[in-house]
Amino acid sequence: QNICKPEGFIRDTYSDFDTIESLNHRVARPLDKLIHTKFFRTLKVDLYKPCRFWRTEGSCFQRDCIVQPMDESQVPAEWCAETIDQNDFGPFLGSFPRQRPEYTSKDFVVVNDETYGDGLWLDLVENPERFTGYAGAGANAVWMSIYQDNCFGVAPYLQDTAGGWGSQLVNLDGKTMPFVLPPHKRRELTSFLESLTEEDRGVTLPTDVPREYRVFYRAISGLHASVSTHICAEYFNSTSERWEPNLGCFISRIGAFPDRLQNMYFNFVLLTRAIQKMEPYIAAYDYTTGVARDDRAVKRLVPKMLKAVKKAGMIFDEKELFRGPSGRELKTEFQANFRNISRIMDCTGCEKCRLWGKTQTMGIGTALKALFSYPDRAFRGRFTSLDFKRNEIVALITTYFQFSRSLDAIEMFREMYQDIVTDW
Ligand code: FAD
Repeated sequence: QNICKPEGFIRDTYSDFDTIESLNHRVARPLDKLIHTKFFRTLKVDLYKPCRFWRTEGSCFQRDCIVQPMDESQVPAEWCAETIDQNDFGPFLGSFPRQRPEYTSKDFVVVNDETYGDGLWLDLVENPERFTGYAGAGANAVWMSIYQDNCFGVAPYLQDTAGGWGSQLVNLDGKTMPFVLPPHKRRELTSFLESLTEEDRGVTLPTDVPREYRVFYRAISGLHASVSTHICAEYFNSTSERWEPNLGCFISRIGAFPDRLQNMYFNFVLLTRAIQKMEPYIAAYDYTTGVARDDRAVKRLVPKMLKAVKKAGMIFDEKELFRGPSGRELKTEFQANFRNISRIMDCTGCEKCRLWGKTQTMGIGTALKALFSYPDRAFRGRFTSLDFKRNEIVALITTYFQFSRSLDAIEMFREMYQDIVTDW
């Protein structure tokens, strides 16, 4: 039996850990192949919008923080703005260029306009999310501003760590724990685990916190945990100069906090449910890029992914949210705060972290938009009422893959941890 395998229901969903892990086993491969195709790996991101909340200082200029832009001649012409002479527009046709507004009433994030807006075309596969070395006050400020100013005051209540990974290692009566980490790191991790207070370990959530607020917090905390998981799964070991998993990093940032772990599964459920709802639209979408091999692969892989997602059944019921007399007000507040978080991402002082922060916020925002801004029927028939841009679809599927990677990494770390505890 695996001591760290989570069991039971994933809070605020109708699904359990086992179901979600087996779903992930089915979608992981098609997703992995999909995100390597031209359509899904190519994205235009506005990386240089100024931070509108505080003065950012000390950007990270280390090699791993910098993104590699792609050769724009490789971007399909239909995705780019043609050079149009302003005189081609009649006097009443509005300003030029015709940008999409920053957001519409249906959006949960600020959506960059790939055709007319600013930004860099990037190859996501060439710029993977992993350890960059970006840390310290600047990075903490972004996360803290998100939790303290935009999470409806829920954050302090949800830091429960009871039974987290590592508890098997700290209750060893002072014996040294056999750990994969070098001795000084072992001591650091042990004292970190011992320093967790009772309050850290199990504060119960007050019953009067609206479910919408909890969902909001889980989405953000799950995203943060997933970013941390990728950092720890692809960690740069400066001694061996190799990229490798770092179990100590994982335990101290995520494993010791079951709620953070759970919130990654929660996001996977949320994204799965959105893809289920959007199924006919995603199936009918035109993914043509002109690269025959990739276009053929997408035609095969999208139905495969959709089939697995459909089979998961009813795992989350979005209709239970934003109901009753305060529903409309809660939704407006939820949308405003989520949009704000998409703007806070501009304050991230490391290009590659900003790229992934923005892309994944947009991915989750796209899922929220599908779940809460449209009725089921909008995704059937001719989709005339829908307003999803290409980059929203790319962000949604890419983000789904990022969480799938995180769930894979959790299983990998679980095995590493299990081996240590068993051997001991
Ligand atoms: P942080 O991760 O900065 O967390 C700050 C505090 O938040 C913690 O002390 C804890 O109290 C709380 N907390 C932590 N996790 C959670 C959670 N899941 N739920 C609730 N509360 C939590 N670094 C990279 O190496 N690669 C990247 O790709 C990368 N992307 C980033 C993207 C963004 C948008 C940001 C803001 C930062 C990114 N970073 C990245 C930096 C990274 O997230 C950490 O900030 C950094 O590694 C320092 O970690 P830390 O241990 O100080 O805690």
